[in-house]
Amino acid sequence: MTEHHLATLAVRAGQVRTHEGEHAEPIFTTSSYVFASAAEAAARFDESVKGNIYSRFTNPTVRCFEERLAALEGAASCVATGSGMAAILATCMALLKAGDHIVCSDSVFGSTIALINRYLVKFGVEVTYVRPDDNQAWRSAVRNDTRLFFLETPSNPLAAIADIRAIADIAHERGVLLVVDNCFCTPALQKPFELGADLVIHSATKYLDGQGRVVGGAVLGNEQLVGKDVFGFIRSAGPSMSPFNAWVFLKGLETLQLRMRAHSEAALQLARWLETQKGVRKVHYAGLESHPQHALAKRQQSGFGGILAFDVEHGRQGAWAFIDATRLMSITANLGDAKSTITHPATTTHSRITPAERERAGITEGLLRISVGLEDVRDLQADIERGLAAVTAVGAR
Ligand SMILES: *Cc1c(COP(=O)(O)O)cnc(C)c1O
Repeated sequence: MTEHHLATLAVRAGQVRTHEGEHAEPIFTTSSYVFASAAEAAARFDESVKGNIYSRFTNPTVRCFEERLAALEGAASCVATGSGMAAILATCMALLKAGDHIVCSDSVFGSTIALINRYLVKFGVEVTYVRPDDNQAWRSAVRNDTRLFFLETPSNPLAAIADIRAIADIAHERGVLLVVDNCFCTPALQKPFELGADLVIHSATKYLDGQGRVVGGAVLGNEQLVGKDVFGFIRSAGPSMSPFNAWVFLKGLETLQLRMRAHSEAALQLARWLETQKGVRKVHYAGLESHPQHALAKRQQSGFGGILAFDVEHGRQGAWAFIDATRLMSITANLGDAKSTITHPATTTHSRITPAERERAGITEGLLRISVGLEDVRDLQADIERGLAAVTAVGAR
């Protein structure tokens, strides 16, 4: 299968047809599996014979999803989890011990920071945060006890680009593992393993499903790190993916490349148009020539994705007036859906950090984030026009 192209793998990889000859992937709703004899049970348990034992460990529908995603990312091994956060937790629990140090991008998903700062530190893991686009900062942060680097690129919501290849080289010089959360690009737009990453994390909840239906995640990497270490934690602790959710993700993956292309094209078109609009102070989108890392993004990604952020006039008042004037986009913090969503990061996704931290991170009061969906781009533009008219009206008051 791996000799096929991405769109083919997304439809076909991982499927093992049963004796029933079904065309679509079946959902195996079973918690456990039976053995032909006592000797076979013993052989499965001592792992001398591979096979299913219990669905906290393995399940055929989940296995199909894992193999399909592994084929798309170009990984030897994949373990599915009950959520994206469970994937990050499992990676940390499996690979870190008390006294280890990690270096993390300062603009990763909010719950990732909460997981590290509230829980991992309780077990003696130390962390240094650095800007994702500052290679020198990654290099300077490494200590003798540094075990892993963690980053997301493009960052949320300001689209700072981390140079995966350069940061992988810095990590590997010092024997550090690089973990990339590839949620925003998916393998349809960015292949972190080809750029030197050791592990890839997914919140499948976002673009892998792409239709806002179920929560799930995955960890990918080599056989030792993922197939043995991370799988060992999942098997013991149980944050596994349900077979039904795996089946939904399989259906989502079939359209991944088409969807990512459509999200990217619409977001680029809207970003270019927004740059020319009155009431817009700045547009943050790596597909724009005005983005300071446009050349790097172009090299590293095969598309720029569906997340678009921009700063409107009149601060929070302007941003809230914009949101309240829209009629098509959903006001929600979720992203990666066929339905476009609009968020005010300063008072939602980034509300728990202090105003000073927000200032430093560039999350201004006038910043809006749109996850561009699959509606007709003309209708989205009309909705944004309604928002911009409301921003202008704030100024006229
Ligand atoms: C949503 C998200 C997560 C967490 O995933 P869940 O499925 O919600 O647990 C992790 N990383 C990024 C970049 C995300 O957007």
